[in-house]
Amino acid sequence: MTTSTTTRAQHNSIAWPALIWIAMLHLGALLAFVPAFFTWDALLLCLVLHWVTGGLGITLTYHRLLTHRSFEVRPKWLEYVMTAIGASASEGGAIGWVADHRRHHAHSDDHEDVHSPNRGFGWAHMFWWMTPDITSVHTVEYYKKWCPDLMKDPVHRWMDTYHIIFPILGAVALYAVGGMPYLVWGFFMRTVLVLHSTWLVNSATHVWGYRSHETRDTSTNLWWVAIITYGEGWHNNHHAFQTSARHGMRWWEFDATYIAIRVMSFLGMARKIKLPKLTHAAPIVSPERAAKLARKQSKKVKGRRPMDDEPELVGASR
Ligand SMILES: [Zn+2]
Ligand SMILES: [Zn+2]
Repeated sequence: MTTSTTTRAQHNSIAWPALIWIAMLHLGALLAFVPAFFTWDALLLCLVLHWVTGGLGITLTYHRLLTHRSFEVRPKWLEYVMTAIGASASEGGAIGWVADHRRHHAHSDDHEDVHSPNRGFGWAHMFWWMTPDITSVHTVEYYKKWCPDLMKDPVHRWMDTYHIIFPILGAVALYAVGGMPYLVWGFFMRTVLVLHSTWLVNSATHVWGYRSHETRDTSTNLWWVAIITYGEGWHNNHHAFQTSARHGMRWWEFDATYIAIRVMSFLGMARKIKLPKLTHAAPIVSPERAAKLARKQSKKVKGRRPMDDEPELVGASR
């Protein structure tokens, strides 16, 4: 253990509560190999809850709503309900999650990034939260620095403190309704799949895939991560347009979460949806062309009008 805070952040502790909880989830998921616990409706439940907790809870709520405020939901209580769904994914409380992710954007791939890929794939994927650096331990000061908005909200503070209640309640409810098959597939296996899906955004989409925009980090767009995270795999697009509610920019960059946000908007539950200003031709520009245009744009030539197929960098922040 060290308290050094010199050029490169140092490991300072082992996050025992999170480590024990997530190890227990993985052990529980091994029960899926017991044939007696398999039923087709339990498998279907696993897939549906993967979307509900991973897609609506983490991607739509924790990330696009709470971290980047790329849209608003009304009424306010709906935000709390959605945050509870996010907490059910066992990725911790919303304030801690948002704080870590905002710091990731502020320090992408440098030594202060909480899960920099430069420290190895394993670190970016999961070792970062197991052994947090001294500068990223979830203290009140850390929360106030990165999440002053959520810290002002007593409901969010309470939900962050007692976030573990939500996955436990979910497990109890699933067992009560469907016994061991629902517990094993609807809770253990589903949670483990959601965890690794989310972690792949930090690891795989900073290593593999293509880049459409020349951001200062190594973020990439990766189709299979986009599928299992409901649009988060278009991560290079996201680093380029961080406050955009839409991450898939080309017609084939399928973004299930953006569709969900549009449905919420249609139902009157979402408003003030932030988008990058894209011209009609922008989605079909080639990666090489997009990179060239982004390079040109970064020079910020005064008075130049955007080209027909050029994405305009509005909404990008930090
Ligand atoms: Zn990233
Ligand atoms: Zn983000």
